[in-house]
Amino acid sequence: MIPLTTYASRTVGVLGLGKSGLSAARALKAGGATVFCWDDNEAPRETASAEGLEVADLTRPREAASLDLLIVSPGIPHHYPEPHKAVLAAWEAGVPVDNDVSLFFQALTDPDREGADEGSPKVICVTGSNGKSTTTALIHHLLGAAGRHTQMGGNIGRGVLDLDNPGPGEVVVLELSSYQTELARVLAPDVAVFLNLSPDHLGRHGGMGGYFAAKKRLFEYGGPDRSIIGVDGIEGRFVANTMGPETIRIAATQKLRGEGWSVFMNKNHLTEWRGGKQMAAIDLRQCPALIGSHNHQNACAAYAACRAVGVPPRRLEAGLASFPGLAHRLERIGEIGGVAFVNDSKATNADAAEKALLSFENIRWILGGQAKEGGIEPLTGLFDRVAKAYLIGECADQFAATLESTPHEICGDLATAVARARADAAPGDTILLAPAAASWDQFTSFEARGDAFRALVESSQEEPA
Ligand code: ADP
Repeated sequence: MIPLTTYASRTVGVLGLGKSGLSAARALKAGGATVFCWDDNEAPRETASAEGLEVADLTRPREAASLDLLIVSPGIPHHYPEPHKAVLAAWEAGVPVDNDVSLFFQALTDPDREGADEGSPKVICVTGSNGKSTTTALIHHLLGAAGRHTQMGGNIGRGVLDLDNPGPGEVVVLELSSYQTELARVLAPDVAVFLNLSPDHLGRHGGMGGYFAAKKRLFEYGGPDRSIIGVDGIEGRFVANTMGPETIRIAATQKLRGEGWSVFMNKNHLTEWRGGKQMAAIDLRQCPALIGSHNHQNACAAYAACRAVGVPPRRLEAGLASFPGLAHRLERIGEIGGVAFVNDSKATNADAAEKALLSFENIRWILGGQAKEGGIEPLTGLFDRVAKAYLIGECADQFAATLESTPHEICGDLATAVARARADAAPGDTILLAPAAASWDQFTSFEARGDAFRALVESSQEEPA
């Protein structure tokens, strides 16, 4: 835990008592603040009380007015569609509203932090619509493989304030969502990564413009020493255009030769280019967890981030090859009789499923669940890669109608789909779980769905085909 002495002897409210809220409350209390917690639901309030945290209804004007600061969890609206009542009450009372990510950056520059006079760690922050977790985990892995001291947190792994107090020379890698970058009053990464932008969470940001603005804040406040910008899409090109020579541009779909610093894909090779010269070329076909153009984008970004903190190219090559990948994201879980099984349960929308379909051929595609807006209409151009589709969940009929003449079968549940796909498959085929839908009609989460798939594959490994 990072104790937050910045607010010693002050009164701080914590709104939302999930993982990040509870860790903020603990860190503030450990640093000597008086902390009042609130959550609209009773169960988390009880959890907080049980561990000795004080609960107070922060939506009431009197409680709000007693605060010096209100810390808000990422899941709680602070602006659109409308601010939470406790946020409004704080503003009414002239109390600043902030979040745990901002507290983390404040702690790092606090001269009273233990070890502060020995020097500061470096902080790399990753944002974007897709690929944040993969890129964050890959940076962490590459740094570790290169022998650097590193911790990872934010939206992946530990909450930012649950991290160990970082020492000098250490690199902290944080995955940040748009909710966090939008609200944080202090955002001071040494290296900031912008991967890509596609429509998401628009209700919370009042539309695409607000969403884009929330992500851009990471590059505006104080300005990172190095910005790594994915320029495959128009938004990244726009952002890169507003930046100076501290930028490293990265791309999976175009060559970026020129005078600046760039990392891009050239004939399956991750290529580093600087000052008009090629500095390195690494064959990503030797990196089993980095399949597909989207993962090449993640790899270029992660490589650039490590270069920005001084890791030499030759130290990154082995790390790219040994990256195990993240569970439920194009995770290769086994092979039976020449048939590969891939778990991409995290592909909960058409956009993510598109990346999966582009990564394989002869696909036996298991999909369905709770449909998102637009269903699988955006994927029709990729149906020729599908040998047959096996439909599960409540949107099976809807998806079947979109599949039209592409061979398909309504299987109902995942066990039936795996058994049917396995019975049909020939060596060289890939049985791919990429549902293009939410899991909640049949599972508690995309993780539970992916775990069920893995268990089915593992149990069928034990039986003869
Ligand atoms: P996030 O943390 O941003 O949700 P993840 O790394 O968890 O991203 O990947 C989520 C899904 O998004 C993956 O299953 C994959 O299909 C897709 N994806 C991963 N990286 C990218 C990328 N760079 N561009 C587009 N889609 C991606």
